[in-house]
Amino acid sequence: MALQLHNTLTRRQEPFTPIDPGCVRMYVCGPTVYDWAHIGNARPVVVFDVLYRLLRRLYPAVKYVRNITDVDDKIIERARESGEDIAVLTARTAAAFHADMAALGALPPDVEPRATEHIPAMVAMIGRLIETGHAYTAEGHVLFSVPSMADYGRLSRRSRDELIAGARVEVAPYKRDPADFVLWKPSTPEMPGWDSPWGRGRPGWHIECSAMAEQHLGETFDLHGGGLDLIFPHHENELAQSRCAHGGTEFVRTWVHNGFLTVNGEKMSKSLGNFFTVHDLLDEFPGEAIRLTLLSAQYRQPLDFTRDAVRQAKAVLDRWYGALRAVPGAEEGEVPAEVMAALQDDLNTPRAVSLFHELAGAVNKAADDASRRAAASALLAAGRLMGLLEQEPEAWFRWAPAGAAALADAEIERLIADRQAARKARDFAEADRIRDALAAQGVVLEDGPGGTTWKRSG
Ligand code: AMP
Ligand code: ZN
Repeated sequence: MALQLHNTLTRRQEPFTPIDPGCVRMYVCGPTVYDWAHIGNARPVVVFDVLYRLLRRLYPAVKYVRNITDVDDKIIERARESGEDIAVLTARTAAAFHADMAALGALPPDVEPRATEHIPAMVAMIGRLIETGHAYTAEGHVLFSVPSMADYGRLSRRSRDELIAGARVEVAPYKRDPADFVLWKPSTPEMPGWDSPWGRGRPGWHIECSAMAEQHLGETFDLHGGGLDLIFPHHENELAQSRCAHGGTEFVRTWVHNGFLTVNGEKMSKSLGNFFTVHDLLDEFPGEAIRLTLLSAQYRQPLDFTRDAVRQAKAVLDRWYGALRAVPGAEEGEVPAEVMAALQDDLNTPRAVSLFHELAGAVNKAADDASRRAAASALLAAGRLMGLLEQEPEAWFRWAPAGAAALADAEIERLIADRQAARKARDFAEADRIRDALAAQGVVLEDGPGGTTWKRSG
């Protein structure tokens, strides 16, 4: 079966056929770096990471571009409030984003363009839009003329009235049409700004992505992704700018959008204040458990976030890692065809996860060593394709929440050695005392043919 993806443009699931089968080109909108990422922001990162890993398996090369928006009014506002220098604020936040997403097992994209490093490309694109009658200047601003594009609104399928109401675009006297949106705006001397034919100013958010995508992926590319909330106005406007700047050529073949992560049914967002940062959650849970939680629903469905769901995901991973621990030195084998088929069916991760349970069960129930090893290799390969089971089982079981008064690994190893020595000396009372003392500290010992292993419980 070939890869099938739901395309927002057609509202249908379609077979995916790359423009250049030698290299798939994908753009995903990245973070605006002014604050910690919340777990809702992590959903697209993890979902598109699975798509990236799958594409890399299916095609010889993939060029994955995910930008960093480091010039934006929210950033300017935050820096003004805190007195922090903008460059320091964005560098700190981008570094935190990288660390958090790496902890969730997301691979870095191939190119991570920064908006502030692509201003000339934006200025050039705006210039072309003005020349071709798709944009106009007014009071130091440059605006995109929505009526200049006959099929504006095709992606979000909104009527003209809905477009105007939904855009909540600033009502500004210099706009020729209420739906017109900003490409360039003037900066005051304290604000970041760049010289341009329209005076010192800064770009609007939408043109940033159009220009960065053009520079790194060309005029037409295969896939463009982001959360559902980006369809309108952000992606509608990117599409309008890019097509109009490129003489009407197709911009993107397949648009992919993830559903919302919710809390009690409401979208998790900074403005509602109902968010958990990835940074804080990583103190409480291993990154892989958070990742599995995010992949437990198909990406287009809403996913209600609870700590209990992460706890359950951790328990599931404990079972899978437990199965792998029984097969030391297991190596990654072929990804089972059913797992490939599930992922190729519009990234059906819940189905893939249910197959993992079967694979782990096959490891546990295997009648002989060869079949146990084969099942473990399949489980490992399937896991790695989804960015899961990437640790050594021993390391997984040693994980402890931040700040827990946990015994250090070395201390545990020393106590286990003392217990071995006591057992050897047939001092079973002492051996049991050490085992109980460790249990009281949340460390569980398991004696097996290969010696004693341990794990932190809870
Ligand atoms: P923002 O920082 O709001 O531009 O969001 C960055 C990315 O996270 C975008 O792709 C958004 O669509 C996505 N996003 C924001 N909130 C959520 C949420 N609650 N659930 C899923 N995706 C979200
Ligand atoms: Zn974008």
